[in-house]
Amino acid sequence: MCKKTKPENQFSIAVASGKGGTGKTFVSVNLFHALQQKGLSIHLVDCDAEAPNDKMFFEAELSARKEIFQQVPVIDLQACTFCGRCHEYCNYNAIFFVPELRKISVLYDFCHGCGACLAACRDGAISERDDLLGEINSYSISGNSALFESRTKVGVHSSVPVLKAAIHEARGAELLVMDAPPGTSCPFIQTVARADYVVLVTEPTPFGLSDLKQSVETLASIGLPCGVVVNKAGLGNREVYQYLKEEHIPLLMEIPFDKALAAMYSGGKIPAREDLLWKERFIELYNTIKDHYGTSSSQR
Ligand code: SF4
Ligand code: SF4
Repeated sequence: MCKKTKPENQFSIAVASGKGGTGKTFVSVNLFHALQQKGLSIHLVDCDAEAPNDKMFFEAELSARKEIFQQVPVIDLQACTFCGRCHEYCNYNAIFFVPELRKISVLYDFCHGCGACLAACRDGAISERDDLLGEINSYSISGNSALFESRTKVGVHSSVPVLKAAIHEARGAELLVMDAPPGTSCPFIQTVARADYVVLVTEPTPFGLSDLKQSVETLASIGLPCGVVVNKAGLGNREVYQYLKEEHIPLLMEIPFDKALAAMYSGGKIPAREDLLWKERFIELYNTIKDHYGTSSSQR
């Protein structure tokens, strides 16, 4: 399991879902907006580094841009003795090595930049160069709130180093909301592992339930508390609710299947900004999360 690196006095919430399009960005930006309006010191991190879109909902100027690099090995074929040590040390099969043909090369798509090959080489045949992985774009939303957008460079195979860097960059606020990448693979794990509490957003449909179960099982294996927001409530069936009841998973909020709401959102508007009622509902969601977090902490 990943070790948390966030500051001790920061409460962090990851908003996640087993698949894209269920409304996790909707929940993230509304929660962020409602709480920053309430005066909380809050940072929102768009961790969906392959397709970030939280910024679309805010009219804010870029405050800072930081490029994220990874050091990768470069093999000097003139100095290489073809001993194979770097190949043996690489845990990611990122060094192609055929000693009979005196062939060796780095497979950069697999390289994690761990540096093990550099340490392994006794012949000084390996040096390192910087590879650009992506960037973090920061936007100041108000005096004590900001949005951090992680964005990987096209063609980079893993978004993890960039999203981790963005989460690190967002330290310093009392509250961190992370809009997690969809799915349950490595980028999801690396995001939720830095959270105190995970909000899973789902739809009341068989597909929604299937993805929700997978997310819940993954979080249980990490030992993270979670609750569920049902989006498009009223659509589909009651199986998601039955599942939550059987598994004792808190239902944190329901967002109705509502065309006006969908139109507002698809037009880049945040309901919590347009409608006081929605602002209050998202503040209430935060209070519910804190209550459930408190209860789950006392049981651990
Ligand atoms: S830096 Fe690490 S992952 Fe990359 S080739 Fe070297 S040992 Fe393999
Ligand atoms: S450890 Fe160094 S010398 Fe040995 S094969 Fe790798 S690059 Fe060549």
